[in-house]
Amino acid sequence: MSIRPVIPRTNLTELNRQGFAALVAELGEPAYRADQLHGWVFKRGARSIDEMSNLPKRMRAALTERGYSVGRVELGQLRESIDGTRKLAVRLDDGAVVETVLIPMGQGRFSQCVSSQVGCALDCKFCYTGTLGLSRHLTPGEIVDQVLLARQLVPDDVRISHIVYMGMGEPLHNFDGVVESIRMLTDPEGLGFSPRKITVSTSGLVPKIAALGEAVPVNLAISLNASSDAVRDRIMPINKRYPIETLVEAIDAYPIHSRGKMTMEYVLLGGVNDSDDDAHRLARVLARVRHKVRVNLIPWNPFQGPGYDRPADGRVRAFQSILERRRFTVTVRTTKGLDIDAACGQLGERPAS
Ligand code: SAH
Ligand code: SF4
Repeated sequence: MSIRPVIPRTNLTELNRQGFAALVAELGEPAYRADQLHGWVFKRGARSIDEMSNLPKRMRAALTERGYSVGRVELGQLRESIDGTRKLAVRLDDGAVVETVLIPMGQGRFSQCVSSQVGCALDCKFCYTGTLGLSRHLTPGEIVDQVLLARQLVPDDVRISHIVYMGMGEPLHNFDGVVESIRMLTDPEGLGFSPRKITVSTSGLVPKIAALGEAVPVNLAISLNASSDAVRDRIMPINKRYPIETLVEAIDAYPIHSRGKMTMEYVLLGGVNDSDDDAHRLARVLARVRHKVRVNLIPWNPFQGPGYDRPADGRVRAFQSILERRRFTVTVRTTKGLDIDAACGQLGERPAS
């Protein structure tokens, strides 16, 4: 199976602005109808052509006749954690399932973690998604539709304020699909997200990091996860191609778009990368980019198989304070959704038990 998805030309959810303009011209309708059609799909989240009530009947009929539809991902299972995190299984047209997670941030706001691929090719040893291998990239419409679907599920007074590409898959491996989806999410006449409220997390596909910075002004998070190449090689095979030094160079060159800093994610694996020595070495590795990064420590979220341990809270605090003494900004990611396998690195369908 090809990892490139088939993008049906007749699915309105996959069209960009030019696509809508061309379609409306083809139908012989005035140009403003393209905005209306676009608004129905991406602002109002219409799920059928029929409900687009301000479009003339003849236009709706012509669309239907030509086979156009609002192709939609479907909600599979919805699970809610005791901490308010919601995990949505999303069924795609070809039956594949990906997951997206709504994480409560307080005051009625949620951050949505979206998937960019079915599975992942990069095989990081601590990540459940990595055990699945890669089936295929998601289309831009399938990525955006995770947000449209979630918006329909949350009550009106709840706002999805941030989007993070930290679900299943390596976003920069599906570079074109992800960039197009960001353009769709940030279209002011569509969902209207500010690029500053969007974060793309990557395991470090170095050449694509600069390309992302040039294409769309989003925030970047890098999964560093080790302080030496010897350990990173073992837990993240991508390090053999793009070792830590090349990654730090890419970080140094990446434009910082908001007043915020770039996030260095560091999954703490007990006895593997969480010692005092690791913390000191990490401080040295990141010394030249210290002013532009924030280190985000993520105690490992367990799943069966790889045999890692989640470090004790005291170890996490000790690691954090070493970095802080070296004047780094350090946060510890609060684990959310652990009881429903919705925490970082736990996403992916489980075999039926
Ligand atoms: N592929 C991208 C984004 C998805 S993973 C990336 O690797 O950055 C999102 C984050 O979850 C990454 O920082 C990754 O290192 C982390 N992660 C993966 N598995 C984890 C686990 N089991 N526990 C805690 N964090 C994990
Ligand atoms: Fe893929 Fe990211 Fe998981 Fe690595 S951590 S296997 S890159 S999803």
